[in-house]
Amino acid sequence: MKITSVEFKKAILNLKDAPKDRKPEIAFAGKSNVGKSSLLNALFNRRNLAKTSNTPGKTRTINFFEVNSKFYFVDLPGYGYAEVSKELQEKWGELMFEYLTGRETLKLMVVLIDSRHGPNERDIQLIDFLDEQQIPTLLVATKIDKLSNSQRRPHLEMIRKSLNLDEDAIILPFSAVTKEGVAPLWKIIEDVLKGG
Ligand code: GDP
Repeated sequence: MKITSVEFKKAILNLKDAPKDRKPEIAFAGKSNVGKSSLLNALFNRRNLAKTSNTPGKTRTINFFEVNSKFYFVDLPGYGYAEVSKELQEKWGELMFEYLTGRETLKLMVVLIDSRHGPNERDIQLIDFLDEQQIPTLLVATKIDKLSNSQRRPHLEMIRKSLNLDEDAIILPFSAVTKEGVAPLWKIIEDVLKGG
């Protein structure tokens, strides 16, 4: 896909403030520090589109980026950072719940899992919830450059097992450093957008 424009549209704390123009949305989620900002920057070949943060977990907003004036990339707040207060965690949960249950324009959820550590309890909860809601989901294994060639397969297998995934379910290896996965991820996004 040729990217002609990408523009930060808005950051919201309440779903009622989300864009109302009904453009299709591709959303990105994962625990804090998983490499979400780096992935978004790699997709757009930008250094600082989505800020890579030094204080993970502090961003509670849902951020909308408009691409080619045609669709949105939705950057969902990172989860599972211990320092965040219970109150903030609950607010996070409410906003995510609202977004994931009430957004007809959501076409694909891209869930990022750190390829070294695999999914934690929160990741598993999210993926089960997406499954229940029948939201199309793509799993991306981030920071794949940190694994040696011999570690790759067992780690991807471990992720597959801990999520109870079928043999043919896609877990896309990705690295913001080597850019592995950028082209296949764009291809999947393009197909999803074409399909609906
Ligand atoms: P976010 O909190 O999910 O947005 O994560 P960031 O994109 O800010 O990344 C968290 C940390 O992981 C930063 O220090 C990044 O430089 C590092 N990181 C992100 N992606 C990669 C990657 O693909 N490979 C490596 N080696 N490090 C990465």
